[in-house]
Amino acid sequence: MIDKDLMTELIAFRKMLHANPEVSGKEFNTAKSVAKFLKTCTPTKIIENIGGTGIVAIFDSGKSGKSVMFRAELDALPIQEINTFEHASTNIGVSHKCGHDGHTTVLLGLARILSEQKPKTGKIFLLFQPAEEDGEGSKAVFADPKFEDVKPDYIFAFHNLPAYPLNQIVVKNNSFTAAVKSIIIKINGKTAHAAEPENGLNPALAIAEILQESAKLSNNDPNREDFTLITPIHIEMGEIAYGISAGYGEIRLTIRTWNEKTMEKLTADLIKCIEKASKKHQMPITCSWTQEFYANQNDDEAVALVKEAAKSLSFNLFERKFPFKWGEDFGLFTQNYKGAMFGIGAGEKSPALHNPDYDFPDKILPNAIQLFHQISLRILS
Ligand SMILES: [Zn+2]
Ligand SMILES: [Zn+2]
Repeated sequence: MIDKDLMTELIAFRKMLHANPEVSGKEFNTAKSVAKFLKTCTPTKIIENIGGTGIVAIFDSGKSGKSVMFRAELDALPIQEINTFEHASTNIGVSHKCGHDGHTTVLLGLARILSEQKPKTGKIFLLFQPAEEDGEGSKAVFADPKFEDVKPDYIFAFHNLPAYPLNQIVVKNNSFTAAVKSIIIKINGKTAHAAEPENGLNPALAIAEILQESAKLSNNDPNREDFTLITPIHIEMGEIAYGISAGYGEIRLTIRTWNEKTMEKLTADLIKCIEKASKKHQMPITCSWTQEFYANQNDDEAVALVKEAAKSLSFNLFERKFPFKWGEDFGLFTQNYKGAMFGIGAGEKSPALHNPDYDFPDKILPNAIQLFHQISLRILS
């Protein structure tokens, strides 16, 4: 059980974060508040400014042994909050609509427990990562030379899950979230008088062809191992000037698969269909990629540890059949370390993530803290 005073302190801290959200890469004050709280937990070491505004707190037993990392995110979203409760966002157009305020608070609760019950062997790392929402944060942390010192044997993270029963632990072997990336396709034609489009190169038909052909590459059936999804996001072409035949166009798509292998194939197939359209319509097309999220590839042993820990605490456990279609940049860590991402139910009636009325349910704080702590005890015992 978590001490009542600690819960009161954590809920107040979570609401303070909620009221003062900052978008990806700009979590300066959030990081300051987190570092200030961490200092009261007397970790062995605190590394600040890792991968931008990131922080790692290290609880080192001083004895050899395994190391385990738990990760939370610091960033909020560019969404206007419509809630009117007391801790509503005070930052116009920005709010914590993914519950990262809650995830961060869970790690701080764990830090407070570790300050009283130091690990007996090995080390525990608490990573507060910036910029999860744009996929840049884990990359920046991973590439930071300061991360060299903290490479863990195991790494874990959870995401709260609206529509799942409150405090239900949701696990899955192999992929937990999809591999996702976005493509920007630029079609370079040539303007002409609208009366004589034959003298120019209008990208309209190339755009239509790319959309038609790419739609055929989608297998939007989550039960399939080779699930693929291509979603048109944005199309732009020409100017609103009725005398001009368009000479330039852009298409933006997101693409998703359950694993990196299928992602490689889908990428190659999509590029092939773009090249075909370029050749047929005799227009140079350039492509670039953005917002890349690796699939969260859960390790069997790490998932087993989550399950055992949940069972030992008599938590409600649910094994999901197929991965979530959203991307989560923790995937970069699970592609490189033995680890697992799991979910904790935010309640069946909770508004969905990224919705303007969403708020993190504080009722899952104690369970999440206990589960992380239990996992650490199992690895370090
Ligand atoms: Zn999110
Ligand atoms: Zn999130």
